[in-house]
Amino acid sequence: MAEALISQLVVQSAEFAAAAGRALIEKRGRQFAMSAATTIELLGKAVICKQIHPAAVADGKDFNSILFLSGHKALVTKKFRPKTIGGREVLERCVVFMTKLKGSHADALSMLVDMRNGVAHMGEGADDIPDAALRAFDLFVREAARLIGISPSKVLVPYERLFSRLSDEAASKIHKIVELKLATARDRFQSRYGDMSPERRRSLRAAVRPQVMAAIDIDADCECPACGEMGRAACTKAKELGDGVFKVTLYPGYFVCGYCDLQLDDFEEVEAAHLSEFDGEDEPYDGPDPDDAYDLWRESQLENEVPEVEEPAASSGPASLTRPPRFTRVQDYADQVRTAMRHQGLSHAHAEERPACRSRSVYVHPS
Ligand SMILES: [Zn+2]
Repeated sequence: MAEALISQLVVQSAEFAAAAGRALIEKRGRQFAMSAATTIELLGKAVICKQIHPAAVADGKDFNSILFLSGHKALVTKKFRPKTIGGREVLERCVVFMTKLKGSHADALSMLVDMRNGVAHMGEGADDIPDAALRAFDLFVREAARLIGISPSKVLVPYERLFSRLSDEAASKIHKIVELKLATARDRFQSRYGDMSPERRRSLRAAVRPQVMAAIDIDADCECPACGEMGRAACTKAKELGDGVFKVTLYPGYFVCGYCDLQLDDFEEVEAAHLSEFDGEDEPYDGPDPDDAYDLWRESQLENEVPEVEEPAASSGPASLTRPPRFTRVQDYADQVRTAMRHQGLSHAHAEERPACRSRSVYVHPS
């Protein structure tokens, strides 16, 4: 089921990627956004099917769709078209698996989806395709293909070379921008701290520690690629469970240095400045024990099912001694009834005849 669905989604996404390629050649920005967004949605669904399960793309409110996409076609009760999640939701779910596409690239991809959905507009110069959108689209297709286990050319043919060239051009523009940023930052550092000893500079670390202006997963200290002092990076966090702890790898997606004022605004700029991933601190595995999780869930269900009743009237004695329990299991209630009947000289069997007194696991109010 999953493999057939994935193949179908890949074939469909390739049709829209070809339409996006044609729009690129014809310089029709709006058309590019439409076709690229649909490619992203279809290919993103294929990633979710592969990495999680086809049921993870079903519209959660439509039970027939969940049955259908989880392989229980025979149980579907009517003729229907499976309902699935929309482009925004697809992006959010599949970017979880794409560490380097979080942050600015994900923003550019969301912008394409929003434009297709009519939520965002390209505005003036509508036929100019932003470099960021083009680059993010190309990177998304390549990363999705890797996660699905196919060659990117399966999706990008016949325009793979075009996408690749334009994407490289966008990347080389970013390289030029970053080279300029690095050179400017080195000059600034030299004029500010050139005469200062390294020890003295390091003693200023707390005072010049910059605020990170971007939120990804976590902020961390990180050596500056321009001046070599300690700056600060906003990073995505990848965790792998090993030896009872999570081994953490941090991927910087934004960087700022308080010594030389270097600022790198996204993963592309960070990569162009050769700032690579680094190890974070190990994290203890404190995930829920499956048994605890079940108990918590069960309690929450019971709380939801039991109707609220008025508190018993206040009494003069200590609450714990005088207040009757607000609810009791049917079985407990049956025991109380039996006891009361015995006191009144009635038979135990009378209580057993009451169907509600059998041990159904529901809660009732005893009064
Ligand atoms: Zn610096």
